[in-house]
Amino acid sequence: MNLQKNTNMNKHNGVIDDLSNGKWINPADNKNYGIPIKKIEISESLDGLEAELINKLHPNQKLLLVSDPFTYKAMGSRIINNIKGKANIHEYVWEKPSSSIEGVDFLRTKLQNYDGMIAVGSGTVSDSIKYATFLEKKVYSVFATTPMNAYTTGTASISFKGIKKSLVAHYAQGVFFDLEVLSKCPKRLTAAAFADVICRTTAQVDWLMSHKLLNTDYQPTPYYLLALYENEMIKNASSIASGDINALALLTRISAIMGLGTSFTQTTHVGSMGEHGISHYIDMFAKDIHPGTSHGEQVGIATISISKFQNAILNNDSPPTINPTEIPEEEIIQKLGEPMLDNIKEIMKPKLFDTEKSDYINNFFSKNWLEFVQPLREKMLDYNTIWNSMGECGALRTPEDAKLDSNFYKDALKYARFIRDRYTILDLAGDSNQLDGLINV
Ligand SMILES: [Zn+2]
Repeated sequence: MNLQKNTNMNKHNGVIDDLSNGKWINPADNKNYGIPIKKIEISESLDGLEAELINKLHPNQKLLLVSDPFTYKAMGSRIINNIKGKANIHEYVWEKPSSSIEGVDFLRTKLQNYDGMIAVGSGTVSDSIKYATFLEKKVYSVFATTPMNAYTTGTASISFKGIKKSLVAHYAQGVFFDLEVLSKCPKRLTAAAFADVICRTTAQVDWLMSHKLLNTDYQPTPYYLLALYENEMIKNASSIASGDINALALLTRISAIMGLGTSFTQTTHVGSMGEHGISHYIDMFAKDIHPGTSHGEQVGIATISISKFQNAILNNDSPPTINPTEIPEEEIIQKLGEPMLDNIKEIMKPKLFDTEKSDYINNFFSKNWLEFVQPLREKMLDYNTIWNSMGECGALRTPEDAKLDSNFYKDALKYARFIRDRYTILDLAGDSNQLDGLINV
């Protein structure tokens, strides 16, 4: 099969082809925009095209193809069969992959005899390779086995003594999605990917609100791209769950764009605000009662809560009354431990309202509330739309779905605002004495 012909006919890449070629015109400034990944391919099938994809981006390189036992079965064995004799490549099946710094160090030793790596699927394999090749100043590409947004980011999630850190790394040369392979991935992963992109709405509202109240940075570029496909993706939520190729292509495209968001903005705010803070809180503090849910699953549950709070507060035609920010020191010591308190005091500094600031905001709200909320309402998805589409997609929606202790989850809603410096609806709700009421509805 001829790739050139095939990609020209490829309807699944959508706007991503323009981005790869640096030809997308941003409606905000009418300038051309590109992305740091040379080729993103979303195809119904890549069976037989692997050698051409790899050789184009990795000419004359000696490569190691790395999969784990699951992704080897799903795709790795096929790739190696198809490229035998067509590329300078060896294979390695990583029996016990780990996205820990130890795992990364192990991959660095493997890299000594190679110019780069080809990752086959899974967040663990892909993120470890991303970070190992970055540290070794080598290159990599990835064949995805799920529709996650992590494949197209430049950061890697690596754990140090059990604590996950998001680290600056580099971008893949190429990211290749074979939709037939994706349609066979566990439904739980597809639903989690859906949840981790539908949070666009809560993140955008929080980020724009922060911009308006605290004069923090705000850049809408990624949102223009996501808006091209979001409604269609939501309408197709049940087809995504049933593995329909066209519906999966929509989710994959949106996940890829969400991952690329940071390349336009140089910050993760675009898709990570209040809802992500709650998921981070769960990962940091649930310890023994962590139900083993994934990042996307937790973000989905939190997105539903944040959407409920945003809809309740911002759809109200009268403004809330803001009080000076209070850090509940005793509760924090009791719930999160004494050492966290100093951290929290530091973290809260940029968004701590004193009497003067709260008076100023109250005055501003009393005169401009409707003008203030209008653009936020435009970015907000209706709560029922989120709730229903996540249900149709098979995503977890409540702490009960996740088997997460409901009192712990209430604490996450209440205290997550204190562990990150990003201003979100949780801060507005907390400072206006509405948070407890909203949590306990
Ligand atoms: Zn996320």
